[in-house]
Amino acid sequence: MVYVLLVFFGVCLGSFVNALVWRTRQRQAGSKKDRDLSILSGRSMCPRCRHELAAKDLIPIISWLALGGRCRYCKKPISIQYPVVEASIAIVFVASYIFWPQALHGGQIVLFVAWLAASVGLLALLVYDTKWMLLPNPILYPTLFVAAAGRLIYLVGYEPDKAGATILWISSVAVAAGIFGLLFYASRGRWIGFGDVRLGLITGTLLASPAKSFLMIFLASLLGLAAALPSMIAGKRQLSGKIPYGPFLIAATFICLLFSSGPIDWYKKFVGL
Ligand SMILES: [Zn+2]
Repeated sequence: MVYVLLVFFGVCLGSFVNALVWRTRQRQAGSKKDRDLSILSGRSMCPRCRHELAAKDLIPIISWLALGGRCRYCKKPISIQYPVVEASIAIVFVASYIFWPQALHGGQIVLFVAWLAASVGLLALLVYDTKWMLLPNPILYPTLFVAAAGRLIYLVGYEPDKAGATILWISSVAVAAGIFGLLFYASRGRWIGFGDVRLGLITGTLLASPAKSFLMIFLASLLGLAAALPSMIAGKRQLSGKIPYGPFLIAATFICLLFSSGPIDWYKKFVGL
């Protein structure tokens, strides 16, 4: 039953992410009329022909498959991004439930729900940064708010060692945002964007552990290198060529949040901490 609910909310919020990304883009870079598009209200429409969509066109994944990836009205292809994002959120929700590193009761439920909500924002940022190399503030700030609110409720209501946990949270943010802040100022914004620094506030808050934040940045760098390597070898891209860093940071955060507790404990034991 829990799985059915997680998949259901996942694909629905996936639809929301697609609409959020498209409308945020229209507001930032669209025509004058498009800038008035509301993110939270207004009917869904085809991004190509602007035809309003009926309820039968809005069933996540199924509508896309049933229509063969084309708009019912203008017959133009609809990007595979739409069903992929819908399925991705459902997969993230289910995987988070299965692999959540602590037993899910009490304060862990607060953190879990805040994580699911924040992961919706992170997925939207991932898609946006991949397409347009930008982490827009209208998505960044609400995501930060959700992540910080969850962490704060947990800290005040459930954490026995409040001082220790607060220090871990602050140092985690200092690592995740601080390293990028230094890189940003050292390069005067040429290596990374300030959006990556803001993103560090979110990932640092979600991980709430400086060790996990270090691991996350390390893993993100590896993922980024692995993604850039094929085109670098083919000679198409130089090392200085710009690739968005946000998607790798977000992917690494998902992995570290769910899977890094074991390896970090092992390492601490190994070095005798
Ligand atoms: Zn259309």
